[in-house]
Amino acid sequence: MRKRYKTTCICKHCGNEYEGYIGTCTCDACKDIDNMIFTQIRVFLKKYPNSNAVQISDALGINVSLILKYIDEGRLVFNKGTFSKI
Ligand SMILES: [Zn+2]
Repeated sequence: MRKRYKTTCICKHCGNEYEGYIGTCTCDACKDIDNMIFTQIRVFLKKYPNSNAVQISDALGINVSLILKYIDEGRLVFNKGTFSKI
Protein backbone atom coordinates (compact mmCIF):
# COMPACT_ATOMS: atom_id res chain seq x y z
CA MET A 1 0.00 0.00 0.00
CA ARG A 2 1.09 3.51 -0.83
CA LYS A 3 1.97 5.77 2.06
CA ARG A 4 -0.36 8.73 2.39
CA TYR A 5 0.58 12.18 3.65
CA LYS A 6 -1.67 14.82 5.10
CA THR A 7 -1.80 18.07 3.24
CA THR A 8 -4.03 21.08 2.67
CA CYS A 9 -6.81 20.08 0.30
CA ILE A 10 -9.73 21.92 -1.24
CA CYS A 11 -13.06 20.14 -0.96
CA LYS A 12 -14.56 19.43 -4.39
CA HIS A 13 -18.09 19.83 -3.03
CA CYS A 14 -18.07 22.98 -0.88
CA GLY A 15 -14.70 24.51 -1.85
CA ASN A 16 -13.47 24.76 1.75
CA GLU A 17 -9.84 24.17 2.63
CA TYR A 18 -9.15 21.33 5.04
CA GLU A 19 -6.39 19.00 6.20
CA GLY A 20 -6.63 15.73 4.36
CA TYR A 21 -4.79 13.04 2.47
CA ILE A 22 -3.35 13.47 -0.99
CA GLY A 23 -5.69 11.93 -3.54
CA THR A 24 -8.88 12.78 -1.68
CA CYS A 25 -10.81 15.98 -2.38
CA THR A 26 -13.63 15.86 0.16
CA CYS A 27 -13.83 17.47 3.60
CA ASP A 28 -15.42 15.66 6.55
CA ALA A 29 -18.67 17.60 6.24
CA CYS A 30 -19.15 16.47 2.64
CA LYS A 31 -18.11 12.83 3.04
CA ASP A 32 -21.69 11.54 3.04
CA ILE A 33 -22.57 13.52 -0.09
CA ASP A 34 -19.37 12.34 -1.71
CA ASN A 35 -20.08 8.67 -1.03
CA MET A 36 -23.67 9.03 -2.17
CA ILE A 37 -22.69 10.54 -5.51
CA PHE A 38 -19.88 8.03 -5.95
CA THR A 39 -22.27 5.14 -5.34
CA GLN A 40 -24.70 6.54 -7.92
CA ILE A 41 -21.93 6.72 -10.51
CA ARG A 42 -20.77 3.20 -9.71
CA VAL A 43 -24.26 1.76 -10.04
CA PHE A 44 -24.73 3.58 -13.34
CA LEU A 45 -21.42 2.25 -14.69
CA LYS A 46 -22.38 -1.29 -13.79
CA LYS A 47 -25.40 -0.92 -16.05
CA TYR A 48 -23.61 1.05 -18.75
CA PRO A 49 -19.89 0.23 -18.50
CA ASN A 50 -18.90 2.15 -21.62
CA SER A 51 -20.38 5.48 -20.59
CA ASN A 52 -18.26 8.59 -20.58
CA ALA A 53 -18.34 11.46 -18.11
CA VAL A 54 -20.82 13.47 -20.19
CA GLN A 55 -23.27 10.58 -20.40
CA ILE A 56 -23.00 9.98 -16.65
CA SER A 57 -23.55 13.68 -16.06
CA ASP A 58 -26.66 13.74 -18.27
CA ALA A 59 -28.14 10.60 -16.73
CA LEU A 60 -27.52 11.41 -13.08
CA GLY A 61 -27.53 15.20 -13.12
CA ILE A 62 -24.02 15.34 -11.69
CA ASN A 63 -21.58 18.03 -12.77
CA VAL A 64 -19.06 16.73 -15.35
CA SER A 65 -16.14 18.34 -13.54
CA LEU A 66 -17.13 16.48 -10.38
CA ILE A 67 -17.09 13.17 -12.23
CA LEU A 68 -13.66 14.00 -13.65
CA LYS A 69 -12.43 14.62 -10.12
CA TYR A 70 -13.47 11.11 -9.13
CA ILE A 71 -11.47 9.80 -12.07
CA ASP A 72 -8.46 11.91 -11.07
CA GLU A 73 -8.73 10.52 -7.55
CA GLY A 74 -8.50 7.05 -9.05
CA ARG A 75 -11.80 6.04 -7.49
CA LEU A 76 -13.57 5.28 -10.73
CA VAL A 77 -11.94 2.19 -12.18
CA PHE A 78 -13.21 0.58 -15.33
CA ASN A 79 -12.59 -3.09 -15.86
CA LYS A 80 -14.15 -3.39 -19.28
CA GLY A 81 -14.57 -1.23 -22.29
CA THR A 82 -12.78 2.00 -22.89
CA PHE A 83 -13.52 5.10 -20.97
CA SER A 84 -12.96 8.50 -22.43
CA LYS A 85 -13.11 11.46 -20.12
CA ILE A 86 -15.20 13.50 -22.51
ZN1 LIG B 1 -16.81 20.06 1.73
